[in-house]
Amino acid sequence: MFAKRLLRARKAAGLSMSALAEEVGISTNMIKKYEHGQSMPSSGKLYKLSIALGVRSEYFFRPTKVELSGIEYRKRSTTPQKLLDRISADVLDQAERWAELLEFYPDSIRPVPKFTLPNNLPDHIDTFADIEHTANQMRSEWHLGANPIPDIIDTLESKGVMIICTPIEVNNKFDGLAGKIGEIPVVVISTHQTGDRQRFTLAHELGHLVLHGRLPEGMDEEKACNHFAGAFLLPEKALKDHFGYKRSAIEPQELYMLKHEFGISMMAILIRAGQTGIISSSLQKHYYIEFNKQRWRTEEPGEQYPNEQTFLYKQLVYRALSENYIGESKAAELLKMPLSHFHKERKLGKMDATTY
Ligand SMILES: [Zn+2]
Repeated sequence: MFAKRLLRARKAAGLSMSALAEEVGISTNMIKKYEHGQSMPSSGKLYKLSIALGVRSEYFFRPTKVELSGIEYRKRSTTPQKLLDRISADVLDQAERWAELLEFYPDSIRPVPKFTLPNNLPDHIDTFADIEHTANQMRSEWHLGANPIPDIIDTLESKGVMIICTPIEVNNKFDGLAGKIGEIPVVVISTHQTGDRQRFTLAHELGHLVLHGRLPEGMDEEKACNHFAGAFLLPEKALKDHFGYKRSAIEPQELYMLKHEFGISMMAILIRAGQTGIISSSLQKHYYIEFNKQRWRTEEPGEQYPNEQTFLYKQLVYRALSENYIGESKAAELLKMPLSHFHKERKLGKMDATTY
């Protein structure tokens, strides 16, 4: 177990064997031996390794086994493998702490519901019109109405989807990833992205959960999920209520205001206006070109839509603490926080900048 953990922590830290060896003051060969299970470090070396890798020494011996299966990355073709390695290592670490936390809860309490899809979803979703319909159906099954969804993370978490926010700097090279831990669907987003991008990724991944296995052969699931995401975030009816049924032009300011109302990018609204026939395809193309010229496809103008955050994990750590399922030091460990910081946070004392 130690060997695997060391390798993962090293990848998560983005360090080569020799860089780690240098920091700890041992030979590269020794790191290699540790990672191949041929040698075990002394407790002093273990301590130095944990400092160099930014993990607590318990990390190396944590018993929970978590496997992320069926991973799908929403990445650019340029996403470097090294970045993906760092992200998956961080995700596994967070997912393991999740699994460990849930194990402290007694069997009679299910703090997280089991994810299920509505049982009256159609078996076949053949056209984009069907996708629009299914997105509306999901909204109505989940009692979301036709209004903006204030918090997609909370919406999905309350249905049993595990959301992991990774703080790894992604430099626009990564949108998200999805997979499963056992039966639990997991969606990973980056904390470094604007809220509208995070929300689109979350809705896109919900699209996979809903549409997978129901689409006709030959329909691109990625495109279908993007369509679903747009329809889920901004239903046709809401869009037509705001823009009308037919338009010969749209002011950028209108896109900007609707973006901040519904939490979906200006570009995605433009695509929705085309999909729902509000604007013609030639007008849509004209606006694409305009967006390119203004460089709005890299960064949209004005204020960015605020990030979404996840609180559920931390809430469940505190709930476990207050019900005495865990003690303070376990709570601090699960939150990756020094005990002294945790004490302060627990008492709602003044926190310093390194606490999160
Ligand atoms: Zn996808």
